[in-house]
Amino acid sequence: MLEDAGSRNCMCLSGEQYRRCCGRFHSGVAEAATAEQLMRSRYSAFVLLDRDYLLRTWHRTGAPAELDLDTAMEWRRLDILATDRGGPLDVQGTVEFKAYFRHGGDRGVLHEVSRFVRENGRWFYLDGSILA
Ligand SMILES: [Zn+2]
Repeated sequence: MLEDAGSRNCMCLSGEQYRRCCGRFHSGVAEAATAEQLMRSRYSAFVLLDRDYLLRTWHRTGAPAELDLDTAMEWRRLDILATDRGGPLDVQGTVEFKAYFRHGGDRGVLHEVSRFVRENGRWFYLDGSILA
């Protein structure tokens, strides 16, 4: 990875550099310790169109066989609204978030509660409920 890419601010808006935040999960040098970290890193993977990362962090019971990412989708901002469990000692957790996007001329917000499970020390995205 280019030095520039690693030292820019992470697209999940944590305030950390990309390489110290979601970048270390994307590259595989570290595993997300919490459901929120996994959620953030998956959001960043959507920004970067990192299909492989999205698929490998998707729990096998819900993962799509194929994942076609919409390259016209521009993810602009992530707000984590609430978390429940999802800590290093938990085996499940939820994260409520709003993700703001632009798509063509449209703007929108995805408001979702995502469910995560931890197996063999790794967090996976299970599924999500979209809120109005
Ligand atoms: Zn990040």
